[in-house]
Amino acid sequence: MELEKKPVKEFKSRVLKVITETPSTKTLVFDLSNIEFDFYPGQYVMLNVPYEGDILKRAYSIASPPTQKDTLELTIKRTPNGRASVVLTEYTREGDEFLIKGPYGKFVWVPSMGTNLVLIGAGSGIVPLMCILRYIVSARLEHVKATLLYSNTHYEEIIYREELEELDKYSNIKVVHTLTRSWPENWKGYTGRINMDMILKEVEDIPTNLYYLCGPPQFVDDIASMLIELGVDGEKIKKEKYD
Ligand SMILES: Cc1cc2nc3c(=O)[nH]c(=O)nc-3n(C[C@H](O)[C@H](O)[C@H](O)COP(=O)(O)OP(=O)(O)OC[C@H]3O[C@@H](n4cnc5c(N)ncnc54)[C@H](O)[C@@H]3O)c2cc1C
Repeated sequence: MELEKKPVKEFKSRVLKVITETPSTKTLVFDLSNIEFDFYPGQYVMLNVPYEGDILKRAYSIASPPTQKDTLELTIKRTPNGRASVVLTEYTREGDEFLIKGPYGKFVWVPSMGTNLVLIGAGSGIVPLMCILRYIVSARLEHVKATLLYSNTHYEEIIYREELEELDKYSNIKVVHTLTRSWPENWKGYTGRINMDMILKEVEDIPTNLYYLCGPPQFVDDIASMLIELGVDGEKIKKEKYD
């Protein structure tokens, strides 16, 4: 099914708010009050980031749902020794302006594509998956079922932790966490990397769902191989690799 393309726009936008999500992650809330900007859940924008007299162009998935019209949220995790991500997470303040261009990307979901979703992400790979979840809730798509498997290194690094707890309370949304390097004493989630056992335990009717995988390239490839081995058709697996 070919979706109609959303028009690509280029516009300057002011940061209205900077939200601290985790010690290494911030959400920048951009002003959309003067522009009509539409996108599919899962898409990304290109951001021009000034860096030492240069302009770095970087892709960032849209975190806010398309039902939210006045602001656009991007969530950026600081990459160790990274350039743009350090500017965005450490030196960006309310009132700063950035050039934004988009939307882009084929990692999209709309209800006509399927209503049983499994979203699997690692670290900042949660961002487009959160957009999909926020869209399901804000558009009141109660007939859509979504399971999120979310992997992080440490508890403190779980992005949107409290909001995910709230989403898990919806009867059509299930949130499953795993932590790979350290975890609190009373941790109720999984530990270790996402593996076939976890998928078998947490995902119903494995071959029939639509899968959205997002994170580092190796993570996405590993999970895709597991799903294929579990009988999922490759066409039902959508991938977004953050390299
Ligand atoms: C479609 C898409 C969507 C994305 N969405 C998001 C998102 O929502 N949130 C998010 O946080 N990220 C996202 N990313 C990743 C993002 O685009 C950037 O890649 C990320 O922020 C790192 O950029 P940077 O400029 O900080 O790092 P860079 O400066 O480009 O560095 C990247 C890596 O290279 C290493 N490096 C840097 N310079 C050198 C050098 N001279 N020699 C050797 N190694 C070097 C750094 O140590 C670092 O590990 C997305 C990527 C894609 C492709």
